[in-house]
Amino acid sequence: MSKRTLRTGDRQLIRDINISLVVNSIRHYGPISRVDIARRTGLGRSTVSDIVGLLLKEEFVTETGSGHPNASTPVVGRPPVMLEFKPRSRFVVAVKLAPASVTAAVTDLDAEVIGSVERSIGIRLSEGAVRQQISETVYEALSCCGLSMDKVIGVGVAMPGIVDSRTGVSISPRFFPWQNLPLRSLLEEEFGVPVFIDNDANAAALAEKLKGYGRQTSDFVCVTVGIGIGAGIIIDNKLYRGSMAGAGEIGHITIQEDGPECTCGNRGCLELFASDDAIVREMKRIVESGCNSLVTRIAAEQNREIDRAIVACAAKEGDEAAFSVVRQAGEHIGVGLGTLVNILNPEMIVVAGEAVADFGSLLLDPIRDSICQRSMGVLARRLEIVESRLGAQIWIVGAASLVLDDFFGAPIYERPGYAAAVSIPDLMQS
Ligand SMILES: [Zn+2]
Repeated sequence: MSKRTLRTGDRQLIRDINISLVVNSIRHYGPISRVDIARRTGLGRSTVSDIVGLLLKEEFVTETGSGHPNASTPVVGRPPVMLEFKPRSRFVVAVKLAPASVTAAVTDLDAEVIGSVERSIGIRLSEGAVRQQISETVYEALSCCGLSMDKVIGVGVAMPGIVDSRTGVSISPRFFPWQNLPLRSLLEEEFGVPVFIDNDANAAALAEKLKGYGRQTSDFVCVTVGIGIGAGIIIDNKLYRGSMAGAGEIGHITIQEDGPECTCGNRGCLELFASDDAIVREMKRIVESGCNSLVTRIAAEQNREIDRAIVACAAKEGDEAAFSVVRQAGEHIGVGLGTLVNILNPEMIVVAGEAVADFGSLLLDPIRDSICQRSMGVLARRLEIVESRLGAQIWIVGAASLVLDDFFGAPIYERPGYAAAVSIPDLMQS
């Protein structure tokens, strides 16, 4: 396939700091009048009017007729025309690449899902097949929603392993056989729109920042528990990626110095004790040792191997063995997180991922107990530990926010004079 030209027009528009300030005022405070936008942004009224004209022409915003003048608007004369953001003027495609499946969803500019498609992929998806699998799923999702790439501002991909989001390279994806795959450029060539890729736990943290508990919190950790265990770290409202994009690899914290060997080369990593595989392995070991557990009956009834869902089902029905396996996993996770609390002193830990969705408080309670036990009391006392409310959508919202954060983020100008410009977080707090 010949290389397509990257279509960055919409994105270039919002790169202008004044346009960014105006569009974000309307996004966050609409319906809002031109006068109030000028007040909030400190821009001149004619500048605001010119920019609003442009945004109306590009259909990012709409006039909603005469609004009720609010306290900051003079009550004399005609009520002002109000402006509202149009979240469905453009769209985002969000992709979650998991070890055995790829999901593509179309969202609007508020990261609300409009439609999605999930397909299974072969285990050990090859380097050659990944572009095709993602692109087929993306085009299928778009066609389900009756849309084409023309209205899409970008594609975000959340995936496992170490991902350099700046260069768009999947460095070490854990569950896939490749190393250093330039996935972003492959997909930009395919789709012709900007593509953003990041580690899935990082994307989950961004999802929490955009639509979850993170909205009210500037320093928090989002830990994801399922096939793997990872964490996205938000410091001072920004995702902390580390020097080479590997921050938050909490699944590979040592919790047993002489423990079994891990795929990462270390011994006794947290994932060996608390991932899906670890939970199922421990459950099977207990059953095989002759312990009487509900999981045996449920597995036989459903005619399938013991898996996380079966362990969850048994534990919820009060099965002692399943309960203790889940509890132990939670305690191990708490050991890892307790260390993280001592290092980062976050305000909140949001626990997300498929395992917590299945186990709920059965997993969350021991995590909580263990964090309190393993971190300094003074830090733990003020720490909130909560279960994400975003459920399975967290990956998609996270992948979408990779695109939205860039699109609506305050542009960074290296030219002198712009350093003192109002930033979006300042604007949101005003
Ligand atoms: Zn490891």
